[in-house]
Amino acid sequence: MKYDVIVVGGRIGGSVSSLFASKNDVDVLMIEKNPEIGVPLQCAEATSELTFKTLGIQPSKRYICSKIYGVEVHSPDGTHFKMQPSGDEMGYILDRKVFDKSLAVESAKAGTDIMIWTTVKDLIIKNGKVKGVVAKHLDETMEIKADMVIAADGVGSNISRMAGINTLYGVKDVGSCVQYKMVGIDADPNYMQLYFGREVAPGGYAWIFPNEDGVTNVGIGIRDSNETAYHYLNKFISNFNGMPFEMNVGGVPLSGPVEKTYTDGLIVVGDAAGHVDPLTGGGIHLATSCAKIAGEVAAEAIKNEDTSAEFLKRYEEEWKNKIGSIIKNSLKYRKVLDKLNDKELNALARFLKGRDLDSITSTSLLGLVKESPSLVRHLKNVL
Ligand SMILES: Cc1cc2nc3c(=O)[nH]c(=O)nc-3n(C[C@H](O)[C@H](O)[C@H](O)COP(=O)(O)OP(=O)(O)OC[C@H]3O[C@@H](n4cnc5c(N)ncnc54)[C@H](O)[C@@H]3O)c2cc1C
Repeated sequence: MKYDVIVVGGRIGGSVSSLFASKNDVDVLMIEKNPEIGVPLQCAEATSELTFKTLGIQPSKRYICSKIYGVEVHSPDGTHFKMQPSGDEMGYILDRKVFDKSLAVESAKAGTDIMIWTTVKDLIIKNGKVKGVVAKHLDETMEIKADMVIAADGVGSNISRMAGINTLYGVKDVGSCVQYKMVGIDADPNYMQLYFGREVAPGGYAWIFPNEDGVTNVGIGIRDSNETAYHYLNKFISNFNGMPFEMNVGGVPLSGPVEKTYTDGLIVVGDAAGHVDPLTGGGIHLATSCAKIAGEVAAEAIKNEDTSAEFLKRYEEEWKNKIGSIIKNSLKYRKVLDKLNDKELNALARFLKGRDLDSITSTSLLGLVKESPSLVRHLKNVL
């Protein structure tokens, strides 16, 4: 077997990369270790209109569970305020099991071959260049040659590591997340609820996202804690009278992208590359944006018969151009948030309540000096 491009991983990073490579007339094989694409779910399923704009498609009713107009933020003392996204971008809660599969279907329609229930175990590397994969389906091990590989195998990507790219994160850099789907939680159907505080979710936040038909996604992401996310989630839901009926868990890379996202014959995308917003933990839109670029650059490389690192570095230049500043800014804000204690979070929430975010300046912060001088010191670094 020989392909132009092999994509490892069949969720967002994988399906979008393979879709855009196939659309550009190269032979693509996508390999997914699970028997069903999109399963198990490892997500709270929130994304924005930008994902669909990037894909160039209209969102379909088949996977849109609810429309979101903003977020309501809750501080530890119960102060809460609503925020709308700038630019009036519509938000969505997806059914990712359906959405991920629909992306794989689109990719197959564009010509991608898909192998499910098949795990990539190793890379074929010749003269320092990635030239294919060794994959295993049931008892059968096979060598599949390719001119290049796209690693879309999720956080801590083994595949990139085999090619010499360091994808290991420290414990403080990975969000540990767990989520229930629940019934019986009384939630605003058009707003996402975010809860902050050291007792609620150290190093992260708890969320309640309205799904469809009386169902909510209730979850928590934490970092660097002695207790598990599961412990904090059960504590959080004891405040409500709801019933969980499904649980999902996963890790999210929150310290920005890996140092290098290309090498000879390989590029890395999505969670595998750290393409996740360090403040929100959202990776759907960033993975989509970078995977589109990955697929297009892979196709260009094949057409130019040049899959060297020198050629593939344009992938990193392009994704940095597109989303580099989003990740950089979010990391800056997250680092400030990390420093705030509950008292400072409460003061910040009272300050933000009823304010338009765009109107906040260093001068308007002077009002906070009396209440929380330490908070102003932290905020000065990001304004
Ligand atoms: C609990 C939780 C909640 C989240 N909530 C949100 C949210 O609300 N909004 C948002 O935008 N983001 C959210 N995220 C992040 C988001 O889910 C990820 O950023 C996104 O799924 C990244 O997609 P990906 O394709 O890069 O990686 P993944 O979704 O991790 O997919 C990797 C795929 O590769 C396959 N694979 C791995 N190794 C191999 C191998 N060796 N051979 C073959 N296949 C392999 C895996 O089976 C998997 O299907 C959340 C994450 C978690 C854990």
